[in-house]
Amino acid sequence: MADYDTIVVGGGISGLLSALVLSKHGKKVLVLEKDDILGGNCNSYMVDGFQVDTGPHAITHLREGPLRRLMDEYFNYLPFFVDYGHYYVRTDKGLTKIPSNVKEFVTFDVLPRKDRLLLSQALTKAMTQMTFGMLDGEQPVYDYLPKGLSMDTHDFVNAIAYFLSGKSMKETSVNRVLYGSSFMRDSVSVDVFKDEEILPDPSYASQITDMLSKYHLMDHLSSLGRLATNKVAYAQAYPRGGLKSLLNAVLYSMPDTVRIKTGSRVIQILNDGEKVTGVSTDTDSYSSDTVVYTGFAKHLPSLVQLPPDYVADLSRIDQTLSLTIWLGLKQKMKEFDYTGSEVWFRGGAYWAMPISNYDESLAPEGKQLVGFTFVIDDKNDIENEKKNALGLIMKAVPGIENNIEMTHYQLTIPEKAAVTINGYFAGIRSPVKNLYLAGTDTDKRSMGVTRAAYSALELLKAMKEDKNI
Ligand SMILES: Cc1cc2nc3c(=O)[nH]c(=O)nc-3n(C[C@H](O)[C@H](O)[C@H](O)COP(=O)(O)OP(=O)(O)OC[C@H]3O[C@@H](n4cnc5c(N)ncnc54)[C@H](O)[C@@H]3O)c2cc1C
Repeated sequence: MADYDTIVVGGGISGLLSALVLSKHGKKVLVLEKDDILGGNCNSYMVDGFQVDTGPHAITHLREGPLRRLMDEYFNYLPFFVDYGHYYVRTDKGLTKIPSNVKEFVTFDVLPRKDRLLLSQALTKAMTQMTFGMLDGEQPVYDYLPKGLSMDTHDFVNAIAYFLSGKSMKETSVNRVLYGSSFMRDSVSVDVFKDEEILPDPSYASQITDMLSKYHLMDHLSSLGRLATNKVAYAQAYPRGGLKSLLNAVLYSMPDTVRIKTGSRVIQILNDGEKVTGVSTDTDSYSSDTVVYTGFAKHLPSLVQLPPDYVADLSRIDQTLSLTIWLGLKQKMKEFDYTGSEVWFRGGAYWAMPISNYDESLAPEGKQLVGFTFVIDDKNDIENEKKNALGLIMKAVPGIENNIEMTHYQLTIPEKAAVTINGYFAGIRSPVKNLYLAGTDTDKRSMGVTRAAYSALELLKAMKEDKNI
């Protein structure tokens, strides 16, 4: 008899969610994590009195997404979530809310008026075409942009593309921007089409409304339109106590039938030529009926022999390297007097979150903690990238340099696969029987923790179909 029903390789959020789900379906599970701590990219730790996260995080799709389903179904303890707030863009004039629907876009005065009109027309066209199945959305954002936009507007669209996919607008699909930014899901409402001001031709509005009635799409689209304002707070949040509160909620919910070993790197996945039989670490071997691998799918061929076609597919997985700079501020700054996050896009781009505004205990009394994330090129000199990134922050927030008491750098790969146009996603099943994959390179929907949660649900489905549950 095998030592365990299932061995989960990797104790990041994907592995732990998988272990939780499987154990609650009666499985005896072993989790093996190579590092000395659990959580992977989903954790928090102390630096000079400030509690930093592994990158600034917004937990998304909390109302009805996959994490919500897992929490409702399998968690014994729930993190306390604080409303996320808003997304802003920072310019020399301060902060402006990023539009979350076409109407708001028209008054978004960060960009020149002419560009706003061109962009809202392009957005309206893309949303309409998408609604009626006339656009597959897989073309690059760059190709879909109207001609004659200013450089500034190009930089803005590029910054948003980097934020949503980790890649430039030439490698990001129209789909990713429309769905990832919630434009599609949140703002395809009838009022959008009724607003004649934003449409190229006023008669277009009534044509669209007529079409919607004809195809009985009115009710459907109106219900999607309930999010038609920038109310991200209803759907997104930050866990009070930091990102580790989410990790701890998973760990506290784990039944006794789960054993977790840190400092255990899996070096081989064992099989009998037909199906998996267990795994080996540097020091031990464990037998099991099924194995769930949640490390980089790209690295799977170094652990087990796989068919060449599959190995070739895995090598197509595209990734993004990110740099986060955490700044501990001596005093709170009026520039960061908000909850949510900000994007800067001039002369370089960052995404920033003042996380101690959600929970003051993350910074020493009277101080503030802000995380700034950059997408960087791993071919460049990293020290230079750090210097440039810090320089950009100082340009965006004049005076901040006099107020910094802690600087902490993190180099991370936020998701194991970036959602690019020709990128590859591994899926849940491997070619080896009873060897499954989970994690952010198996499911392209959404991003980050939400994507990890999707993968745990898909794993459950696949194992049920294979009669392994
Ligand atoms: C800067 C930044 C910002 C982010 N922002 C957001 C956000 O706003 N919203 C959001 O939802 N998500 C965000 N994310 C992404 C999110 O944190 C990750 O997608 C998620 O934590 C990935 O979880 P995972 O378990 O799939 O992978 P990982 O966290 O990489 O975990 C994999 C684990 O497997 C272990 N492992 C690998 N190989 C082996 C082996 N052979 N043996 C044993 N153990 C092994 C690793 O050590 C690791 O602990 C962000 C991430 C970063 C870095």
